Amino acid sequence: MGTNLIDEVYINGEFVTPHGTELFDLFNPATGQVIGQVQLADEVDARAAIAAAKAALPAWSTTTREERIDALRRLQSAVTARREELLEAVRLEYGAPVRNEWMVDSAIGAFADMIKTLEAFAFTRQVGQATVEMVPVGVAGLIMPWNSDMFFIADKMATALAGGNTVVMKPSEMSATQTRAMTEALHEAGLPAGVFNIVTGRGDVVGTTITRHPDVPKISFTGSTPVGKAIFRESADLMKNLTLELGGKSPSIILDDVDMSTAMFGALSSGFVNSSQACVAGTRILVPESRYDEALKVAVEQLAGFPVGDPADPATAIGPMVSQKQWERVQGYIARGIEEGARLLAGGPGKPEGLSDGYFVRPTLFADVTNDMTIAREEIFGPVLSILGYTDDDHAVEIANDTDYGLHAYVFSADQERAKRIASRIEAGRVSINGGYEPISPFGGFKQSGIGREYGSYGLEGFLETRSVMV
Ligand code: NAD
Repeated sequence: MGTNLIDEVYINGEFVTPHGTELFDLFNPATGQVIGQVQLADEVDARAAIAAAKAALPAWSTTTREERIDALRRLQSAVTARREELLEAVRLEYGAPVRNEWMVDSAIGAFADMIKTLEAFAFTRQVGQATVEMVPVGVAGLIMPWNSDMFFIADKMATALAGGNTVVMKPSEMSATQTRAMTEALHEAGLPAGVFNIVTGRGDVVGTTITRHPDVPKISFTGSTPVGKAIFRESADLMKNLTLELGGKSPSIILDDVDMSTAMFGALSSGFVNSSQACVAGTRILVPESRYDEALKVAVEQLAGFPVGDPADPATAIGPMVSQKQWERVQGYIARGIEEGARLLAGGPGKPEGLSDGYFVRPTLFADVTNDMTIAREEIFGPVLSILGYTDDDHAVEIANDTDYGLHAYVFSADQERAKRIASRIEAGRVSINGGYEPISPFGGFKQSGIGREYGSYGLEGFLETRSVMV
């Protein structure tokens, strides 16, 4: 694929030339080469998209459950039909290893999961003498990060539409190629014009136009905690209905009864997921002092199972960072870890051998990390994992909870009941025991990891207002 210009946004069921004229370079992070440019939308485009969503709302909000399920099915088929093309866009623009097919399959799954949720969802409930009606909030503004573009588009859109809302989406300016491929797929589902609109532009231009607009009562945002806080403040005047999915610094607690090889493999897998560019990455690995040396030895040995390299190579587990800026940020954290006295077990500064062109980071393990060090407190968003020792279960829980975040946690134990007791004390929206996973369970953060929940029925409730009618 040569350089290409993405010079259309999607408003009112059509691909149109944006009013905005700013051009933004798109890179292949595996080579550092420019692969294209996107013409960014501006305030005028954002307002046009909001107007289209508002015009489409009366008809869409009164559709039946069956009509919405039918629309979600068509969206799912349209995305499935483009699977190969979408995978190619993710690899090229984001540098996702080819083995990470879940980056597209999770988008397809998001439609399937919402169909399942919608089939069983009670929009009318009885509470004492009252009839409780769950009604659409209205036009929803969906603002998304670059680290899983297609999944966020699919999941937020499916949930909003299932609730009878219409949407204006603002994906990241850095994932325009992926967004374009996804938009073409979604367009083919033939939904009524204006039900969904997609305007790629800057956060401080298109993003703020959406968050400040009085015709957008619902904002669902996934991104960094600082931007989430800015949106929280922005939305206060109009008292918007907010869902904020923010950052994390998730602990992986390895209990002293584990098979170390299995547990450490699970911990490293959760730490390096999506080349560690994941809000849910388990970046603090907590190991018992009684098995500390063994844990370090196993961790270093197993690092070979997570090769960094060309995303097109099926053997690659860890791809490049999304941008030069992100690469520099991660380097800054590696330097900080060394400065603050953590012990470098593997990896370190600079690029891996033979990978000097792209934004590749050496998968890095730090040992003897204490929970007050910067690398244990801040979200790095790169393959830099910290190993911390603990004395007993109480101490492990104390360290796990000693963070501003609370998005996810992982517990590894030979004894499920013991692991569940630990889980019940963790301040995080999701706790996975020995790799357990349920996509339609509620997802979201305690503390500064956010507000509200996504996925399944809890996610759907986030796009509904509740009206009690009492006779
Ligand atoms: P970001 O916060 O910089 O940007 C996210 C989106 O917000 C982008 O589309 C951006 O253009 C837009 N934006 C920026 N400023 C804005 C403003 N003032 N008003 C409105 N919109 C604005 O995040 P990022 O760098 O794209 O993504 C990485 C971050 O996302 C990480 O912190 C990660 O933890 C977080 N994340 C969270 C989850 C979750 O579900 N909790 C999932 C994935 C990523």
